Amino acid sequence: MANIVSTIQSLSYQCNCGNQHKIIEIEEIVVEKGALTRAVEFIKKKNYQSIKLIVDENTFKACGEVLSSLLKKEKLSYSVCFVEANENGDVVADERSLIQVLLETSGNEEVMIAVGSGTLHDITRFCSAKMGIPFISIPTAPSVDGFTSLGAPLIVKGVKQTFQLTSPVGVFADIDILSAAPRKMIAAGVGDMVAKYTSLADWKLDSLVTGEPYCPLAVQITQDALQLCTDNIDHIAAGDTKGITILIESLIQSGLAMLLFGQSHPASGGEHHISHFWEMQFLKENRHQVLHGEKVGVATILLATLYKERLLSVLEKDSLITQGDMPEEWKRNLLENKEEVLTIYKEIPNAEQIKGLIQKVSGPISYQDLSIEEELLLNALKEAHHLRNRFTGLKLLSMVGEKEFSTYLSV
Ligand SMILES: [Zn+2]
Repeated sequence: MANIVSTIQSLSYQCNCGNQHKIIEIEEIVVEKGALTRAVEFIKKKNYQSIKLIVDENTFKACGEVLSSLLKKEKLSYSVCFVEANENGDVVADERSLIQVLLETSGNEEVMIAVGSGTLHDITRFCSAKMGIPFISIPTAPSVDGFTSLGAPLIVKGVKQTFQLTSPVGVFADIDILSAAPRKMIAAGVGDMVAKYTSLADWKLDSLVTGEPYCPLAVQITQDALQLCTDNIDHIAAGDTKGITILIESLIQSGLAMLLFGQSHPASGGEHHISHFWEMQFLKENRHQVLHGEKVGVATILLATLYKERLLSVLEKDSLITQGDMPEEWKRNLLENKEEVLTIYKEIPNAEQIKGLIQKVSGPISYQDLSIEEELLLNALKEAHHLRNRFTGLKLLSMVGEKEFSTYLSV
């Protein structure tokens, strides 16, 4: 992993996709047993004098405590901010958590450290960017692919929105800590990875139909990460050192593709919009949250079915497209590129294959596994595409008048 940043950066100079690629400002990515010690060495090298750890109760126990004692041993000055859980026992990246961290940050800190998984990174990323203080990423579970990206998906006034903010200056993934993460967080990481099957398909569709910016290099990096994960699913399932190392590396690599492109297109398509929809509804109903990667994995299985069973047949009928509720230019582009679009969606693995991957790591494979009711499932299939402007297979189905999602309830 050590050279991945320079490899990607040099490939980006040769990329002629026409988009302005981001300069990757991550100075060190360390994935190994005992990486926490390397994090402390990095802090000393950077001469950060005042450090703020952003943790929650669980991640402090899993990692923050050991990290604190390492910092103490080196006589480095630090303080800890415990982000509080809401009344349902969940730590959420919403206004309340963001304000708590901002209030507990004096502005004299020279670095923040996100000690946790996705949510604590989203909170830290926002506060770090707004306070103009760099942050270090210390993942405590291989559960999401957002560690290395710029984006922070935040809940603002009940709506999940993604803000492009800042990347960490260093990522230190300690395999000892990640191996001790709850099994369901490892399964969630696999869920977030298999999502690339549908996110990459949706991105290609968007570029062909609406002219959305597209980058073959970001696609390749993401595809390689996905392949790395699926090729080694048995090691990941066994939870051995090799498996956990590969899972976190593939998540980091997927994050780097987003960072390079500057937005989440490579990693987030219709399946993420469905997941965001469910998450917002759970918050509205004061329900205990389900892990991001669990929701995303289930949504990917649903979309694989929907795309292969319904979208492909819609695309075969020109009349459905010409009568669709979308700009004329999009219709023209869809019809002109129909063969390519068909190929994109045919290449998505079958739902059963994706289920098989998630089942190997004992993750949830159906909406019932997530205690999602039929009504919430159907509403998400109909409405989730409104959450983002991106043109996805899900949006296309709705634009051609697909309303009968109930046939997919058996999925
Ligand atoms: Zn995700």
